[in-house]
Amino acid sequence: MGTTTIASATMKAAQVPAPGAAFGIVEREIPNPGFREVRIKVQACGVCHSDAFTKEGQWPGIQYPRIPGHEVAGIIDEVGDGISGWKKGQPVGVGWHGGHDGTCLECRRGDFRNCRNLQIPGISYDGGYQEYMVAPTSALVAIPDALGDVDAAPLLCAGITTYNALRHSGALPGDLVAVQGIGGLGHLGIQFASKFGYKVAAIGRGSENAARARELGASAYIDSNSNPAQALQKLGGAKAILATAPSSKAMSALIDGLAPNGKLIVVGAAFDPIEVTPVQLISGSRTTQGWASGTPTDSDDTLRFAELTGVRAMIETYPLDQAAEAYARMMSGKAQFRVVLTM
Ligand SMILES: [Zn+2]
Ligand SMILES: [Zn+2]
Repeated sequence: MGTTTIASATMKAAQVPAPGAAFGIVEREIPNPGFREVRIKVQACGVCHSDAFTKEGQWPGIQYPRIPGHEVAGIIDEVGDGISGWKKGQPVGVGWHGGHDGTCLECRRGDFRNCRNLQIPGISYDGGYQEYMVAPTSALVAIPDALGDVDAAPLLCAGITTYNALRHSGALPGDLVAVQGIGGLGHLGIQFASKFGYKVAAIGRGSENAARARELGASAYIDSNSNPAQALQKLGGAKAILATAPSSKAMSALIDGLAPNGKLIVVGAAFDPIEVTPVQLISGSRTTQGWASGTPTDSDDTLRFAELTGVRAMIETYPLDQAAEAYARMMSGKAQFRVVLTM
């Protein structure tokens, strides 16, 4: 009589204890959502190359221990105060765009994608390598019922990045669009480009991915070891080139493959310079542009488009317990093509 037991509910999480340290599988208290936040029962979380920022401590200001993961799919399990439009039991996702402040100059202009105080799950706060995660409503993506959580997860970073870059490329149906790199990003880029009605040229190293590229929707395959710019010009010149493989050298070799007014759109994050001469840009008024992901509503569009057209990532799954193995598999570059943790 009179004794009260407060059971503190715990969950499993895969955390990075310190920059460069090995993953630890730990028991943590299940977090509670604050004002305008929801708690998500995570069902799947993609393992993205950008998780290396957290794992290896390459992003300034990360507080450790930190739980990575910004390709999160699950169900709203609890809502905090001040919530409207989202309810318990609803399938939701969280991608790279983990919340914006709504007050900086870019936000006031409606350019939330470029918020000066953009939050990123797994970097600014704990991400999806855990059974329950708290996220602000400004990060939430609605997952269509017909799309499974494992399928949805990689579309929330790799998917939206390629979909959104392509739909802002200026290329119109029927135009030649090249996708450089046939990997985690590129295999989605080829599918989206094909479903957008472009004539798609896939550019990969060697010939081993030629058949795969055609299966994904490419009508031409170009070996990057040959002269890819010349090959693109033989096809009429590319209106857009989506550069997904993080090789600045390979990107530099493509610029002469652009058609007049063509655009090289860079989404593969490399750290060395792309080489381009002013003359290459001036002749034909060509441009190069970087593209970063998109807002949660851009992700909504990505998921709906994928649901409609059947675009899906090719996925290898690992249980949360094997986060270290999953991460190593992703980093090896051998995964076909996205790695997803399941809870
Ligand atoms: Zn990512
Ligand atoms: Zn802002």
